[in-house]
Amino acid sequence: MVKSFGSNTVLDDLNFTVGKGERVTLIGPSGSGKTTILRLVMTLEELTGGYIHVGGVPLQYEEQGGRRVRISDKRRRRTTQQIGMVFQHFNLFPNMTVMENIIEAPVHVMGLGKDEAAERAEALLDKVGMAWKKDARPSQLSGGQQQRVAIARALAMDPEVLLLDEVTSALDPELVGEVLGVLKDIAAETDISMLIVTHEMQFARDVSDRVMMFDQGSVVEQGVPDKIFSAPEHQRTQDFLRAVL
Ligand code: ATP
Repeated sequence: MVKSFGSNTVLDDLNFTVGKGERVTLIGPSGSGKTTILRLVMTLEELTGGYIHVGGVPLQYEEQGGRRVRISDKRRRRTTQQIGMVFQHFNLFPNMTVMENIIEAPVHVMGLGKDEAAERAEALLDKVGMAWKKDARPSQLSGGQQQRVAIARALAMDPEVLLLDEVTSALDPELVGEVLGVLKDIAAETDISMLIVTHEMQFARDVSDRVMMFDQGSVVEQGVPDKIFSAPEHQRTQDFLRAVL
């Protein structure tokens, strides 16, 4: 994949695959392109070149007779339904209750009946410990609580892929643990593929099958967490980890 913003090429011919059920964490210095990768997969950014496939299905562009052709909006939407994303700043709908936030997409995108959607939402809220706040508005919740609701909302579409973009960076330190705890449970209980951007290195170590170290839009080094964190080979990885650990 290639991504440029104007003349700034952020990802230059980057190529990688995430296996089904695999948890991959992207680490690296600020500005190295980690968030951009997640936003491309969520189709929040347009690819400048190349392709992204989810479950073997092309997401933004496909090759047709040697030409790169844009996927129709309808096909794009169908594929992105299999992807859930949790953002740094929660991004809940402020004018809706917790329950309404969760059932919005299942009802309006998946076409689920309201009762069935609410039943499923209740189970998800239970899982993230937020069922007791189902009638609250986001503004009445702490950051950690909002983020747990956002996680339940991302799971409500029963995604194959979950994208986690610095989901604890906006939280007070004492609220980080509750959110990471919920995510660790989900990682243990499901086989959802995860692409994670985080500055929480212990969390990365705990949940990842693979850690990819980025610098300036390229993969410097990748491997199992033990190798990357305990015996990084590249100077750039060693310098980065020394700065953040
Ligand atoms: P951080 O850890 O600080 O979030 P990152 O590795 O996630 O960094 P990105 O946010 O992906 O990095 O940004 C990569 C580069 O792309 C940066 O140089 C950034 O300035 C640029 N960039 C990102 N989004 C845009 C945009 N919408 N318009 C222009 N440039 C952008």
